[in-house]
Amino acid sequence: MLLEGSLQCFPSASYGFDLVSSSMRLLDKDSAYGENAGYGGYFYEDKLLNVKYTDIPEIMSNNDGRLPCPCSFCRNVTYDTLKKELQYNGTKIISEEWNNHRREHNRFAMNDLMEIISRAINEKQIEFVRQKIKDSELSNLKRLIPQHYDSD
Ligand SMILES: [Zn+2]
Repeated sequence: MLLEGSLQCFPSASYGFDLVSSSMRLLDKDSAYGENAGYGGYFYEDKLLNVKYTDIPEIMSNNDGRLPCPCSFCRNVTYDTLKKELQYNGTKIISEEWNNHRREHNRFAMNDLMEIISRAINEKQIEFVRQKIKDSELSNLKRLIPQHYDSD
């Protein structure tokens, strides 16, 4: 069992742990529940990484101007290059709004990661999980999952 696992929930649930958990505060590095804490971070699922709010425009520019997540919140976030601001449904995102909506994203992203593991097990393709870890910022953990299994 791994409690408060944060970004390590995915590799831990992939191999060796029966149960993992993470608080929202740990996933988005917001210990003040959005109160006077600015914008905090963003859980970048593809990289299994929490990035700074100020790094998001660059991530979006490398992803056709979109956040790399299909959740309903992320699909409505855009970057206004003239005003140099992130916008939600066409208006500047204020920190309280960001902190509330970001948690919808966190739930979506963590659920998606767990579904990846479930699908890989059902399809007997655990290499997909291993590859996701390998492509992430947690790539040093890829050895957690053995490359080859004995069939018996
Ligand atoms: Zn999202």
